[in-house]
Amino acid sequence: MKIISSIDGLRHEIDAVEAKGLSIGFVPTMGALHAGHISLVTKAVSENNFVVVSVFVNPTQFNNSQDLEKYPRDIERDAKMLELAGCNLIFAPEASEMYTESEINNTFDFDFGGLDTVMEGEFRPRHFNGVVQIVSKLFQLVQPTNAYFGEKDFQQLAIIHRMVDVLKMNVHIVDCPIVREASGLAMSSRNERLTTEQRIKAAEIYKVLTNSRNFASEKSPEILKSWVIYQINDLKFLHVEYFDIVDATTLKSIDTWTSNAVGCVAVFCGDVRLIDNIRYKLAE
Ligand code: AMP
Repeated sequence: MKIISSIDGLRHEIDAVEAKGLSIGFVPTMGALHAGHISLVTKAVSENNFVVVSVFVNPTQFNNSQDLEKYPRDIERDAKMLELAGCNLIFAPEASEMYTESEINNTFDFDFGGLDTVMEGEFRPRHFNGVVQIVSKLFQLVQPTNAYFGEKDFQQLAIIHRMVDVLKMNVHIVDCPIVREASGLAMSSRNERLTTEQRIKAAEIYKVLTNSRNFASEKSPEILKSWVIYQINDLKFLHVEYFDIVDATTLKSIDTWTSNAVGCVAVFCGDVRLIDNIRYKLAE
């Protein structure tokens, strides 16, 4: 497995792989890897001849400089995990390799069709602008056959599908299920910042979400929304930033149930911001 930090070095490797006619699987990450990330890499390894993983804490998708500073980084540990998982190449550039000053300071022009202004987009202005900016750049460099993204970041995945569609990119996006800790807590690099007591409480988020499924047939989405928010806010350390039940494709709030409903939540546990989601697959 090679670790490369320059664009020239990456291009050189990709050219050699393409010359052999091999398929390329790509997993973009911000590092501080856990079993959730590794599940994407394992899937990529099983479906492609050559697998590239990027490890880059993308500054343009952080709207809070403290969050960017505190984001955990450990490339040596990441490299060990990726080698074991069968990754062929890690691309780990510095921000100066990826962006000009002007790119860092200005928004990237993309028509999100409204997907960027709700939920995460409402509370993290410019976040998705930064996501599309970096993922489109990485796709251009890596030229993947297949790219793997987690359903944990549900809104991000919907936006990546739109990006590929609108920009007519020649890449297949593979949606991967959420990997959870034994407690049910969705795995996240940010979980490392929780105290033991907070981690136990944070696991209640998924319990409330799964419980809400049992009531979906008897309560409207509006009533269920209030119920979920009340149940989570009632727990020590936890404070809901938003919970919405939306259509999985348009991300618009729904008034009546459909089989395409998904509930998406952002919760503060202390000062650590966690996200999770659940599909409501109701019998129609
Ligand atoms: P990140 O490093 O947080 O940007 O995540 C990189 C990729 O891993 C994204 O596609 C995430 O959706 C995915 N991912 C993160 N956590 C999980 C998880 N618990 N289960 C599945 N995929 C995940």
